[in-house]
Amino acid sequence: MLALVAALVFVVCTALLSASIQADSGQYLAVIGLGSQRELGNLASRGLNIVHSNADLLVAICSKLQISQLGQAGIQFDLLQPLGEDTSPYLIYDGAALESSCSLDTANAYPYAEDAYIAQLRVDQAEALAIAGADLVRLSRAIPWPLDVATPMRRASVLPSVSVESLAQAVSPTLLIHHVCKLQDRDALGYCNELGTRYSFASAGLNEAAAYLYSAYTSYGLQVTYDPFVFNSMPMTNVVAELMGSTGSREHVVILSAHYDSISPQPYDAAPGADDNASGVAAVLEVARLLSEQSFPCTIRFINFAGEEQGLIGSAHYAEQAYRRGDMIDGVINLDMIAYESLPPGDHLVDIHAGTDPRSVLLADELVASISSLEEAIHELPLLVPQVITAGATWRSDHGSFWARGFPAVLGSEDMDDLNPNYHSTRDTRSRIRPQLMVEFTKAALVTIARLASRSYAPTPTPTSAPTPTLTATPWRLYLNLVRPLGW
Ligand SMILES: [Zn+2]
Repeated sequence: MLALVAALVFVVCTALLSASIQADSGQYLAVIGLGSQRELGNLASRGLNIVHSNADLLVAICSKLQISQLGQAGIQFDLLQPLGEDTSPYLIYDGAALESSCSLDTANAYPYAEDAYIAQLRVDQAEALAIAGADLVRLSRAIPWPLDVATPMRRASVLPSVSVESLAQAVSPTLLIHHVCKLQDRDALGYCNELGTRYSFASAGLNEAAAYLYSAYTSYGLQVTYDPFVFNSMPMTNVVAELMGSTGSREHVVILSAHYDSISPQPYDAAPGADDNASGVAAVLEVARLLSEQSFPCTIRFINFAGEEQGLIGSAHYAEQAYRRGDMIDGVINLDMIAYESLPPGDHLVDIHAGTDPRSVLLADELVASISSLEEAIHELPLLVPQVITAGATWRSDHGSFWARGFPAVLGSEDMDDLNPNYHSTRDTRSRIRPQLMVEFTKAALVTIARLASRSYAPTPTPTSAPTPTLTATPWRLYLNLVRPLGW
């Protein structure tokens, strides 16, 4: 079933090869073939430290004992190198970067999916790969398995009586572009210059950006907190702004997120990251501005993550904390690169990566429904053409950290088959993006988040013998308390 070692891709950096074998930690990475999802459950019950799974493969960190047990049970698996004490397993998207980066002393990479490899990397190797253009997902923490699936979300059955589509019309293209400019420029060099950097592996530009975000959310009257963490001795922070639900409870939470770090081949000089991902951050800011004047039953969190370009580090930190707190996250809409398509007029195709969790698929359906209702309410021609990706969805942005913790989440992005040729380069600038796509994506995100947060819930029953009470969602009901008339 699985091709054994023959499928390994060797990176020819022989001078450094010997350094790649770290002290044996007694643990091994195994890629295990899955005959069925039931088999996955059986494996999880063996206490395997599962770090990733897709439709037919599973990656786990195993002890020698577990490896022999797998063999005795007749389960097919490929064994990768022993885990080093200073390395972590990563998913690496972009084999070209992997093969061209001779700063690596990684000996091999395992072809895991159509466009992804698995290898263990030290942090400096991850940095070299990221600079070479790869997208990384660090797989250092166990996925909770079996996933703790809550009550499936209900589909919206009726259109809201108060038009969130009208509210979406207040999305300001000028403000969106202003945010992109502020995030890509370097202070004191003039507005919207292209020499700023929010380099993921360095503090200065990141701190400046975080302060900008903190101050913007504060000016909208939201409760803002830094969510600090340390990775590879470098302090970083997510920025979290919260609009508390009108019930005064944080029980049900919806999240709109976008990472704010960036990268390029000359990351200390310029990593403007206009499309990747000032565009997504601008959308989150603008939705926050408009929704902060409304009231919803559910709590909304607007989050900007650090460390995405290092392998989803900031979102992994946040999702882990949310999982440990027992946050009831009804859905995460993560925006990453929403402002590019080639050749005007363009086909307006956009991706919604949902994966196969039915709750995430339903979330994607809601985003599609919001796009449709916006078009019906306002436009005659489709301004976004969404394509929902289930099997084969990518993990290469922060939604993956929520999937890994069992939370429903989707990624909204430009069409990955028409990827921005400037991304991860010094050319990813305001002058090279397509603002209209960002404007329409922002409207769609606003409508979707408003609808998700508008659901009201029956009071939580008092727990009896059952440890986890069942929450019953009522049918969708809009609950906007408008504080100013619509139609401006
Ligand atoms: Zn990105």
